[in-house]
Amino acid sequence: MTPIPESFAIVDDELQIGGMPLTALVARVGRTPFYAYDRRLLDARVQALRAALPRDVSLHYAMKANPMPALVGFMAERVDGIDVASGGELGVALDAGMDPAHISFAGPGKTQAELEQAVAAGVLLNVESFREIHALRAIAERAGRPARVAVRVNPDFELKSSGMKMGGGAKPFGIDAEQASQALAEIGVAGLAFEGFHIYWGSQNLRAEAICEAQDKSLALAQRLADAAPGPVRVLNLGGGLGIPYFKGEQALDLAAVGGHLHGVAERARASFPQAELVIELGRYLVGEAGIYVCRVLDRKVSRGQVFLVTDGGLHHHLAASGNFGQVLRKNYPLAVGNRVRGSSRETVSVVGPLCTPLDLLGDRVELARAHEDDLIVVFQSGAYGFTASPHRFLGHPAPVEVLV
Ligand SMILES: *Cc1c(COP(=O)(O)O)cnc(C)c1O
Repeated sequence: MTPIPESFAIVDDELQIGGMPLTALVARVGRTPFYAYDRRLLDARVQALRAALPRDVSLHYAMKANPMPALVGFMAERVDGIDVASGGELGVALDAGMDPAHISFAGPGKTQAELEQAVAAGVLLNVESFREIHALRAIAERAGRPARVAVRVNPDFELKSSGMKMGGGAKPFGIDAEQASQALAEIGVAGLAFEGFHIYWGSQNLRAEAICEAQDKSLALAQRLADAAPGPVRVLNLGGGLGIPYFKGEQALDLAAVGGHLHGVAERARASFPQAELVIELGRYLVGEAGIYVCRVLDRKVSRGQVFLVTDGGLHHHLAASGNFGQVLRKNYPLAVGNRVRGSSRETVSVVGPLCTPLDLLGDRVELARAHEDDLIVVFQSGAYGFTASPHRFLGHPAPVEVLV
């Protein structure tokens, strides 16, 4: 049996979400497939972070993990800032009511139009190239407004252990640490409003020691670079990287260890940069476990002894669960039959979608309650990199719905 996250209640063998039985939610939504994100779980995660982190560390939501407007609005009232990665996301963050003073914009290929939008909105730009510095000078002069910038540094270290590396070595993200002094000098010459550093080394890490070490090294890097800065450091973004368990055998991150260590980091940061706001930015850790994807069994087929549950959902809606978004070796996300979680009997099945490709696989030989047509398949850990990270147009099936419950 694949593990069902403990935060979900099961009543009369039926999964509960948003305080109601799954079948009640299905009736309310009116169709399958859909994504549902649970407000209580989102709230609980923010509170757990607040309890573990030092009080003066700001918690930002990296909205590329889940940019659903209602969810971003919910998060905007609970976090200290929002990090966006496109002009489109910037619009959603502003609509959500987040103060532009607390929005930052990162991304390796910001267009001229996006840079202009960001300056007009007054958000902090994490500059990632010399081209952006030069373009911002012209934009700020023309607009008569300051261009608020932090330097996104591609660090000179790599995250230890697994996870998605987004810094160290040759990367399209940020300005190499070796070129940062020059970038800082050009920011000074260009008259941009320098605010600090953004150091982002990776994502989806489950090892507290690796995260703590990366935070130490990020602070040390900022301390080395600060001498060349054209002004005091007011923002020090130490990245994120906190992961969630997706697969059998993975252990949840030891949040207390990360939070405990960060108290020491914050103390050292205060000594070096008395004016700086210390920031961590999290996407998946904030929202990933609060969401499920729900699809319906259309057919139960047996092919040469193997049972296939053919559903109305698949990789076109949930690319990550199919294994085609960042996995090297395909593994199953946690799955259940939502309306009969334990069931009266169980069997090993493969859960597939309606697409004519063998990649359309949501569960490869998983043990589930014996399912019938019209039963509901639930994919857990689906609150991040689900809906918007999937190719909805592929094969022309309808897109899924999203609800916040
Ligand atoms: C993707 C990204 C994040 C969010 O990563 P998660 O794994 O969802 O926490 C944060 N910051 C930057 C710069 C990113 O590119």
